[in-house]
Amino acid sequence: MRLRVGVILLTIFVLSLIPEAAYSQDEEWSIFSSRFCTVFYKKEVDLDRLNRRINLRFSDFYNPRGYTKKVDFSTEDLLSGKLDAIFSRVQDILDMYPSRAHVTVNVYKNRKGLDTAYEGIFHEPNTAKSFYIYKTNTIYTTERVISEAILAHEMAHCIIDHYFVILPPRKIQEMLAVYADVHLKD
Ligand SMILES: [Zn+2]
Repeated sequence: MRLRVGVILLTIFVLSLIPEAAYSQDEEWSIFSSRFCTVFYKKEVDLDRLNRRINLRFSDFYNPRGYTKKVDFSTEDLLSGKLDAIFSRVQDILDMYPSRAHVTVNVYKNRKGLDTAYEGIFHEPNTAKSFYIYKTNTIYTTERVISEAILAHEMAHCIIDHYFVILPPRKIQEMLAVYADVHLKD
């Protein structure tokens, strides 16, 4: 009997670990994971365009492995490397290293998908071109607007939310997130 209760409790515990976002994912989504990110992208999203829009050529913190070797990396591999590079750069900028920090990134083709997701969660119209939601630990963005600066900004929100035991006021969180994307290219 006690064992059965244990199994039930364990099941509840394991289920509670599955990100909420996962429930709403269906076959329209593709997925890949890196050290810091799990990316869900809609089937119609052009990954090569996504990769071109995230431009880290200015940086010395992103050194793609094997650039000089003749190794064929998939676009997902390249994106994983870039996302992790931005995430750890933002941790450095903020000097915040929350343990087990990991974020989900949902990439929609365009604004319509993004707006539908926002309205599904908040039941009010969306005004942002990208956003991060603490409750789902997810960045919501689109193929059209994604960039290294937007990712740095939204990743900063995730890092801030995981770093503080008591969250600072929203205005302070926003200042810190802006600080991260402004200083990405320092
Ligand atoms: Zn913000």
